[in-house]
Parts: sequence; C-alpha cells; structure tokens
Amino acid sequence: MNTAWISAGSNVGDRWAQLGRAIAALEACGRVIAVSSCYETEPVGYGDQPWFLNLAAGLETRLTPHQLLSFCQSIELAQGRVRPFPNAPRTLDLDILLYGDLILDLPDLVLPHPRLADRRFVLEPLAEIAPLLRHPVLNRSVRQLLELCPDRATVRKVETAG
Ligand code: AMP
Repeated sequence: MNTAWISAGSNVGDRWAQLGRAIAALEACGRVIAVSSCYETEPVGYGDQPWFLNLAAGLETRLTPHQLLSFCQSIELAQGRVRPFPNAPRTLDLDILLYGDLILDLPDLVLPHPRLADRRFVLEPLAEIAPLLRHPVLNRSVRQLLELCPDRATVRKVETAG
C-alpha cells in the first residue's frame, strides 16, 4: 500500500460539487485518509479567469503511479475537462503531488510534482493535512516549504459552499 497526496482544483461551473465528486471518485482506487478544507485561490499564470477552489487529499492506494495518473485523468475527463491552452480555466484539475518517497522524472510523470514548492494554492491545503510530510528531493517538510514559498497570490480558506 502506498500513500499518495493529490491536489484538486476547479474554476468552472459548480466548483464545490466538482471537488466533492473528485474525492468520491478517488475512493474507487483506494482509501482517502485526509481531505483539506477548500481554499479560494487567485489564478496563477493566466489571470483573466475565475478564481479557483483548491483542496488537497491523501490517498492510500495499491495503484502504481502511472495507474494513478491515468485514473486521475479519467476522473478529469468524466467531469468534462478540456484543454484549449495551458493554464486555461478547468472544471477539474488533479495533480499527484507526492507518491510516498518516490522520485520520478519521466516525460509524462514527474514526482514529486515539479511545481509543488512554488505554489501557495497547493502548499496551503497540503500543510493543513500533512504539515510534517517531507519532500524527498528538497528534504524539507510541507510546512517549511510553505514558509519559504515566494508565491504571493491570495489563498483563503472557505468554510461553506457558496
Ligand atoms: P495539467 O494540464 O497541469 O493537468 O498537466 C497535465 C500533464 O502533466 C499530463 O500530461 C501529465 O502527464 C503531466 N504530469 C507530469 N507530472 C505529473 C504529476 N505529478 N501529476 C499530474 N500530472 C503530471
């Protein structure tokens, strides 16, 4: 059994429901052991689009990293994701942040996720549920990465759907 940490984001349609459906769908490939609060986050990269809702989740799974990537992509597609251009608005984006201590650098899968340490919208939810989790390359905890993160985009916790 392996523990994977996943980031989910949505900025089109009913963002809250889409994140909830994504977590429910992940239950089909393992056991969801932790889910963060939802965070409303300012778009990074392409600013002229709605704000995102983001969360992080921990998943115990027997899937290999590539099986998990395919599974996440099938959830994205099932929820109507299209990719017209990089950083475009999306109904659902699922990224594998960490998969145990695994370090992988392949064309289709990089672990830990290459932008994990640069993005406050990823680190803030992950730090809520796994502050002491260590990044196997940077050798720092998620809490330390958040303290060091240069990203100043707004990330604020939201309590209820709205
Ligand atoms: P995005 O548009 O941000 O969802 O990026 C999706 C692409 O990133 C896919 O083609 C994946 O093969 C690739 N990718 C590389 N590493 C990862 C990862 N750790 N988690 C999810 N997608 C990844």
